[in-house]
Amino acid sequence: MRFSVAQFCGDNLGLNALLGFTESFSSNYFCRTCKAHKTTTRTQTKEDVTLMRNEVNHAEDVRHANLSETGVRRDSVLNNLSYFHVTHNQVADIMHDLLEGVGPYELKLVLSSLIEDKHLTLEKLNFRITSFDYGFPDLKNKPSVIGKHELKNPEGAMHQSAAQTWCLLRLLPCMIGDLIPEDNKHWELLLLLLDCMEFIISPSLTPEATVYLAAIIDEHHSLFLELYPNLHLRPKHHFMVHYPNAILKLGPLVQFWSMRFEAKHGFF
Ligand SMILES: [Zn+2]
Repeated sequence: MRFSVAQFCGDNLGLNALLGFTESFSSNYFCRTCKAHKTTTRTQTKEDVTLMRNEVNHAEDVRHANLSETGVRRDSVLNNLSYFHVTHNQVADIMHDLLEGVGPYELKLVLSSLIEDKHLTLEKLNFRITSFDYGFPDLKNKPSVIGKHELKNPEGAMHQSAAQTWCLLRLLPCMIGDLIPEDNKHWELLLLLLDCMEFIISPSLTPEATVYLAAIIDEHHSLFLELYPNLHLRPKHHFMVHYPNAILKLGPLVQFWSMRFEAKHGFF
């Protein structure tokens, strides 16, 4: 039996370690797909094709042997394979990027803004979360109530599993949409993120859909920077700009996500 390696799946840290890139997401060149400096990624709303990693610049980076200037820790033994190179590994960790990263982060920022603008109170939000009719498929993913201290610290952990976060994000427009004025920009940011996620988590996509996805990711990131001028885009926002191209090369990214691996970890 003959076989060849097409792609490796894993979470961000696992993939960076396996493929020989930096294992810190606060380092200068943390992205395994492109060579954008971390200060560039903080305001970058779309993929820059001139910065992509490839076999040629990767070989130079290996020779240069300077982690803080290249993001490359070492050459990977996987590059000895006939049909594989680490710079061709386009798999994205959409579960951690979205459901344990951008999703809860923006959810907390947006809910805090809505509560501050008096469109909502935390008590009302939690009442709607607990009394919502989730139906049979979502009952096991019913979100937990949100604590006051969680909203105060958007970068901290949210006490929801990835499946609960996805359930909460998807159903939030039905839960509290009636309370929010139509032109609210913060709410628009969350709805844009949901639009992006619908494409990213979809099990089937057309090539044209990736062009549209790139446009709404650009729009979403730009709106984030406009609404929160004191904050910047985080590494997980940056990974999103590579999704449309990754989908074109590999197909729907949900086929490669870490959700099933994490479920197995949960079991153990
Ligand atoms: Zn990148």
